[in-house]
Amino acid sequence: MITRPKGTYDIYGKEAKYYNYINAVFQRVAELYNYEYIRTPIFEDSSLFHRSVGETTDIVSKETYDFKDRGDRDITLRPEGTAGVVRSYIENKMYGDVNQPKKFYYSGTMYRYERPQAGRYREFSQIGVEAIGSDSPLMDAEVISLAYRLLEEMGIDNVTVKINSLGDNESRNNYREALIKYLEPHIDNLCSDCKNRYKSNPLRILDCKVDKDSEILKNAPSILDYLNKESKERFDKVIEYLTQLDVDYEIAPNIVRGLDYYNHTVFELVADIEDLGNASTVAAGGRYNNLVGNLEGPETPCVGFASGVDRLMIILDKITKENIDNKVDVYVMAINEEERITALKLVQDLRWCEIKCEMDTLDRGMKAQFKQADRLGARLLVLLNSEDLQKGIMTVKDNLTHEEVKVDENEIIDYIVSNM
Ligand code: ATP
Ligand code: MG
Repeated sequence: MITRPKGTYDIYGKEAKYYNYINAVFQRVAELYNYEYIRTPIFEDSSLFHRSVGETTDIVSKETYDFKDRGDRDITLRPEGTAGVVRSYIENKMYGDVNQPKKFYYSGTMYRYERPQAGRYREFSQIGVEAIGSDSPLMDAEVISLAYRLLEEMGIDNVTVKINSLGDNESRNNYREALIKYLEPHIDNLCSDCKNRYKSNPLRILDCKVDKDSEILKNAPSILDYLNKESKERFDKVIEYLTQLDVDYEIAPNIVRGLDYYNHTVFELVADIEDLGNASTVAAGGRYNNLVGNLEGPETPCVGFASGVDRLMIILDKITKENIDNKVDVYVMAINEEERITALKLVQDLRWCEIKCEMDTLDRGMKAQFKQADRLGARLLVLLNSEDLQKGIMTVKDNLTHEEVKVDENEIIDYIVSNM
């Protein structure tokens, strides 16, 4: 038997319901905030990710799926969604559109060569937004509140936005120097990844998963003390807007995000739900004003977030109480060929009237069809028999009260629709 590749899984049954539900809610909420759908390729030129996400991030240094295609091109399966959207924005010269800022939402699979565990896969899905072209703190607040409301819409209430500012380039560089100085005497006590990060990307040490509880990191200087006046004022504005919008936030100076392209606002949405462990971070994002320029587009400020659909699915499964199994409204019972043809036409007509219905296609007998109707949770049964059909009559049985009513075949659709 051929099995699925390590780190992947099949989404079907209950999980497929959650998956579609999440995407449907996301589409509705993103459209309400006036974001437009964008779809970019699942694979891109490898250099796109090396130049955007950054060589020194875990994502690019250890986690990408890289291969040469038959034309000897270097290709990478996308590990995240932002780089592709920004590439598309530049390539399609969207900076020239009269309508600005450009606000996009996307949804799709991402690929990272990680050690698979609960809520962490090699193929996973993200939903996300990118607002391109506005440097206003209003835009940061909109993106964060969109993420927050989105989770609320799904019934995920115990969410905190952990927010921090990396400041502008000057603030970040000053902090970087202070952090290097602070860490120097401690570096031998940190994990091997952190020893490498110390040289290449010291800020990343702050969100190391191995050392996260060590005193060394807890006592590290806070970037918030290194923000210059402009960066500080900007951060205060974002916080003020979030307060106005009733977003539950917490200032968290250790959040630096794994990707190189962030500046100013960075944030993570964490769900307070038992047993989620490392998978409790359900969305993350920030401002990335340098990325468009780095990819040879005109300097353009951007802010966005991405949320892990697989983790949302795990949460929905934990918090959903009602049975979300496949229920139908109506089950039409037929035994012989004449009844079957009548049933076939009736279920089609009902479906066109938005009634979810089912009939037997496995040659089941009467008793087995009753059982099947129960399993499907049918509210109403339509019982067909040849004698009634001669008289133009059908029997409708209420599956809860067990009451039966004879209905004229010309009125059957109206009867069912009005009794749903
Ligand atoms: P983590 O710290 O959990 O590794 P990350 O910083 O790598 O997350 P991002 O790149 O910011 O994550 O991705 C945004 C969201 O996508 C995460 O908050 C998470 O919900 C989800 N996510 C990231 N990696 C995976 C994965 N391998 N499997 C499932 N979901 C993931
Ligand atoms: Mg990661």
